[in-house]
Amino acid sequence: MSDRSPTSPRTHSIETALTHTGRNPDNQFGFVNTPVYRGSTVLFKTLSDLEAQSQPYLYGRAGNPTTESVEAVVSELEGAYRTRLVPSGLAAITIALMSCVQAGDDVLITDSAYEPGRKFADGFLERMGVSVRFYDPRIGAGLSDLMQPNTRAVLAESPGSLTFEIQDIPALAAAAHAGGARLIVDNSWASPLYHRPIALGADIVVHAATKMFVGHSDAFAGTISTTEEAWEDVERIRALLGFFTSGDEAFQVARGLRTLALRMKEHQHRALDVASWLETQDEVEKVLHPALPSHPDHALWQRDFSGAGSLFSFILKPAPRAAVAAFVDHMQVFSMGYSWGGYESLCLPVTITKARTAVPWSEPGNLFRVHVGFEGIEDLKADLADALDRYRRAR
Ligand SMILES: *Cc1c(COP(=O)(O)O)cnc(C)c1O
Repeated sequence: MSDRSPTSPRTHSIETALTHTGRNPDNQFGFVNTPVYRGSTVLFKTLSDLEAQSQPYLYGRAGNPTTESVEAVVSELEGAYRTRLVPSGLAAITIALMSCVQAGDDVLITDSAYEPGRKFADGFLERMGVSVRFYDPRIGAGLSDLMQPNTRAVLAESPGSLTFEIQDIPALAAAAHAGGARLIVDNSWASPLYHRPIALGADIVVHAATKMFVGHSDAFAGTISTTEEAWEDVERIRALLGFFTSGDEAFQVARGLRTLALRMKEHQHRALDVASWLETQDEVEKVLHPALPSHPDHALWQRDFSGAGSLFSFILKPAPRAAVAAFVDHMQVFSMGYSWGGYESLCLPVTITKARTAVPWSEPGNLFRVHVGFEGIEDLKADLADALDRYRRAR
């Protein structure tokens, strides 16, 4: 599996961008890393400086050298015109959507979208007079049939973060653009190392930087990267709403990014190992991992991705709730919790039914989502084997 994106050439390798971009040791006494800038007030020397408003920084809420160090790396990786660091992955989604719409407009959201993003659309955009519709994640070019004259944004997330459908980004982009809408893609799973939506036609790419970029479960951040055409709208909405990320959080993201390539390689390899092993186990009905040949979107994944993330799901044979408890309650190496992307492995039982409206979820059995971290691989499998054994006995 190559780490080069199949889509467009870069001036440097990803590894070099990750280690060199966004640092300027000459400006900071030779120290390797951009330090944490903390500050609201930025000083002006003269009235004419104040009136000219041409200093690189005017007020801390618009960013500082620490936040910009992260934005530079992500822009280079995503092949974007510019990037903004925002306080969370959810904020990246909400700002991106708001940048596209006004009252009377319409948005289309993949049925597989991260659930708080769905709730924002239903609970906030609807209140602001924007209609919200959900579409089948596998709709591809069929999106054209759903486009209305007032559709201004299409939100995709590939793969879906619980159910792992791969979306046809070039087809969605073509349909969205033909109808005058922008395509927003949540690229948190693959990271720009393994998938580059802008090169495939997306206008805006968002990341839950909290996950893979930070990589250690100890900070919140999101990023929004855009084409030149979409930039002004995104930056205007961010500024109007007052979203800002502190230098402290930005430093955690910058620090995580330096090792992203190594971590992604390791996560990819381990997650696939565990996923393939799970496929051979009796209690397992299905493993939902796009890099497995058994996955229904495997060919699309091969076409548009150059690697896979840490996260996948599996479905166990139907069993009562007590069996799910037996599975997760006594795990020794995996832990149960939200989020993912850290060094530690997580296993989360998930219920899909309420989160689907366009294509009701009909898979029988119990769904679990795992993030495979850096523990010993044999310990992880042994933990799952014991859990499967408890599940079988409780079923
Ligand atoms: C976690 C997550 C988000 C939201 O990120 P936060 O930083 O937790 O707000 C968005 N998209 C995906 C795919 C996620 O997994």
